[in-house]
Amino acid sequence: MTKNRTTQQWQDLDTQRHLHPFTDFDQYAKKPGHIINRAEHIYIYDTDDNQILDGMSGLWCCSLGYSQPAIAEAVSRQFEQLPYYNNFFQCSNAPAVELAERLVDMAPERFTHVFFTGSGSEANDTNIRLVRRYWDLQDKPNKRIIISRKNAYHGSTIASASLGGFKSVHQQFETLPYVEHIVDPNWFVNGGDLSPEEFGLQAARALEEKIDQIGEENIAAFIAEPIQGAGGVIVPPDSYWPEVSRILKARDILFISDEVICGFGRTGSLFGCQTLGTEPDLITFAKAVTNGFQPLGGVLVSDKVASVITAKGGEFAHGFTYSGHPIACAAAMATLDIMQSDNIFQTVHDHSAPYLQKRWAELGQHPIVGHTRGLGMFGSMELVRNKETRERLAPDQVSGGVCRDLSIANGLVMRAVGDSMIISPPLICSHAEIDTIIDRVTQALDQTAEYFSV
Ligand SMILES: *Cc1c(COP(=O)(O)O)cnc(C)c1O
Repeated sequence: MTKNRTTQQWQDLDTQRHLHPFTDFDQYAKKPGHIINRAEHIYIYDTDDNQILDGMSGLWCCSLGYSQPAIAEAVSRQFEQLPYYNNFFQCSNAPAVELAERLVDMAPERFTHVFFTGSGSEANDTNIRLVRRYWDLQDKPNKRIIISRKNAYHGSTIASASLGGFKSVHQQFETLPYVEHIVDPNWFVNGGDLSPEEFGLQAARALEEKIDQIGEENIAAFIAEPIQGAGGVIVPPDSYWPEVSRILKARDILFISDEVICGFGRTGSLFGCQTLGTEPDLITFAKAVTNGFQPLGGVLVSDKVASVITAKGGEFAHGFTYSGHPIACAAAMATLDIMQSDNIFQTVHDHSAPYLQKRWAELGQHPIVGHTRGLGMFGSMELVRNKETRERLAPDQVSGGVCRDLSIANGLVMRAVGDSMIISPPLICSHAEIDTIIDRVTQALDQTAEYFSV
């Protein structure tokens, strides 16, 4: 166990010794963070024992909340049986084999194999390697370019961050030269005077234009999240995915659905591609597959790809020390047990998501909310001063951070993405807990309006 220290002592040590991910170190030293000390059900508690409802499920991963003793028991049993062994050099282990079988059984029929990694980033790196291998083995080595979208998040290794579409990230390193980005289907930001449906078609056709511009013979794959998470919970207009699907069907390009956030019930079915009606060749998963309790990611591979890469000889020269880690796989098996025995996907689909969406849409009435989006157990909203002109509360995207800090002070973790606010609460939230979320969001919005003198 850790030592007994005061909040101040933890904060001092933290800023002196610990470099945090995606953090402005100078700002953080001036305004240190909450040290999260314990968690229960859908609540986290800091070292001063403030209770905060976790409206982001950790980092999109603790879909079943924090109190799941069956996962701890499965991990502890696996610790005793086999705490580690690798899957290189003609070896395997039972939890990895069983998890691969189970994921294939649950997934849409065309998926036949799984490649395990330690994270979502590594899984997307793996996708780059898999699609390259797939085309090389078919003597189409020119098919190398991968099309992605602006404001996509696909991870933080050099390769997965290149796939991602954040300008602020790309400015800090040299991105891979074989990734191209098209517009993201964010109607509020990019749609101008078009209706959402018109804009959805236009954003989809940006894919077709990009393919024609680069040449199909040079393109390996298109990668996309069903709903862009870190980019601001961008739920595309209804016209978007059917049009993208039409374009992909007509072209000889692989489709990677990055389901690291949308997977495992977030949209009311196992994968977001099932909710939105697309047919990927590869599925990236991570995060909620272990309820966030162990690091695990991977790629579900369809028969179309697997049959090519397994048919011809030659080593697939790729893998990680922790690919198919037995403890992480045991945690995933226990997580899937709970999701299936508690009927989580169906409950989200039939009850929790419709209720959250109804209540979230009501927030659109608030004077500083210009637009709300949502689907499944996702919600996002755009903060504005003027609903007609879409004028923001303040320049330089500062309003989101203000609203987030007020929200956390009121006992709700809500995340800011520029001038939008997003939530992705645990799938197990009851209607009463959803009401509490909405009450606390409303309070944060009222205080934000006051802060910006609206
Ligand atoms: C979080 C995330 C990743 C990266 O996963 P890590 O486990 O952090 O490497 C990839 N894709 C999406 C959509 C994500 O949200």
